[in-house]
Formats: sequence, C-alpha cells, structure tokens
Amino acid sequence: MILTACALTDVGLRRKNNEDNVHADCEHGLFIVADGMGGHAAGEVASALAVETICNHLPPGAPAPADAAMLLQDAFAVASKTILDTSSADISKKGMGTTLSVLYIDDEQAQLAHVGDSRIYLLRDAELQQLSIDHSLVAEQLRQGMISEEEARTSQMRNILLQAVGLGADIDLFLHCQTLQAGDIFLLCSDGLSDMIDDKKIATILNHYPDIVEAATALIEAAKTAGGRDNISVVVVKVENGIQAELP
Ligand code: CA
Repeated sequence: MILTACALTDVGLRRKNNEDNVHADCEHGLFIVADGMGGHAAGEVASALAVETICNHLPPGAPAPADAAMLLQDAFAVASKTILDTSSADISKKGMGTTLSVLYIDDEQAQLAHVGDSRIYLLRDAELQQLSIDHSLVAEQLRQGMISEEEARTSQMRNILLQAVGLGADIDLFLHCQTLQAGDIFLLCSDGLSDMIDDKKIATILNHYPDIVEAATALIEAAKTAGGRDNISVVVVKVENGIQAELP
C-alpha cells in the first residue's frame, strides 16, 4: 500500500499556546496526535515528550512489524514514565500529562494504540467510523446509558479525562488492529476538532476533498468557523494500492 499524509496543528482562536503535537511519517507508517495538559506551558512539553518517545522507541526501518501492539504498549509505558520523571523533577510541570493516539501501519494492517480523548477515525466507502474510544467521563456515562448524546455534547464535564499519559497511574491502553483497504482514509484529531464539529460534518469534509492537504485544511477551518475554542490538530492519512517507495 502507498501512504500519503498531511498533518496540521493550529492554536485556534481562543488560546495563547498550542499544547497539541502531531507527527506523520509515511515511510515508517507512523502517525501521532498528542494533546497535552498542565499549566505554565507544561502541556506542550508533555505532548512533545510523548511524540518524541514513541518515535524513538519504535524500531527504525519499519513499517510496523507483526508485534506492533507489544512495541506500542512498551513505548506508551516509556512515554508515561518519561513525562512523570520530568514533571517530578520540576515543580512548574507537576501534574502534566497528555492524550496520545498512534496509528502504526504496515502493508496490510494498521495497529492503533490510544489513551485519552483525541480520536482516530476511519473513512471507508464514504462512511466515517470512530475506531478509538474516548477515555472521558462523559463518554463513559454515555456508554453506560446514563446521559444522552446531546447531554454529552453540552456537558460541563466534557473535558474530564479518565486516563492520560504521564500521570503515573497504570494505563489501560486502547488497542485495535484494522485490516487495510485501498481507498481508506484515517483521521487522527484532537478534541479541538471533534468538540467543535460533529462526525457528520467531518465525514462531509473528508468526502468533499479527495486531496488530503485540502481536506486537512478544511477541517481546521471548519473548527475555527465553529468557534475554535481549543487547539486543533488533524492528521489525514490516505491508503492507496501500490508499493511504498523506499528512500535510498
Ligand atoms: Ca484539547
């Protein structure tokens, strides 16, 4: 399969800092969104450390090997410890953490690993499906039928996460393996996108723009038009038939 990707991140319209970090590497099939939290610019340190640790911890020269899930589990544990060690050594970074959504693709399948409320979607045959689950309080309440979808969208507690990377607690990593089809489009995004526009709008935009750069740009613009309350990050990955060119 041939991969092409476009990664964009935008501070949005309300915030001074961008605490999100993104990564896209088609050669190694590695795509990441991390949305950091913590005062005094600690959030962007946490999300940057998470992305850096995942990139450094996976073997070079891949696409994703057969034991990708195990490698990602290890990499998440190392990322969490690295962030915790950094925040323990610096009082201004105490309590920093990050969401972390990773897509690791080989020739036939995509391994997902994820913690937090950033999202990984798949657009296949024009239908959008959220592959990741949200580790947030309202998503859990919704899963248990305690609240409606409308209540979840407007809840004041929308930003409360049940787990994040770097806070020291054991992580219950969401893992999912997805077989690839030519034409698949994956979208990784931070909640600055999915809180501002719903899945229907996301699907409409992805279907409207076959060009991934135009699609990614339009997603960011739509989130800003809807208010841009948070940092907005998107990584759009397109899967097509063929053999990925190797760099010399
Ligand atoms: Ca956010």
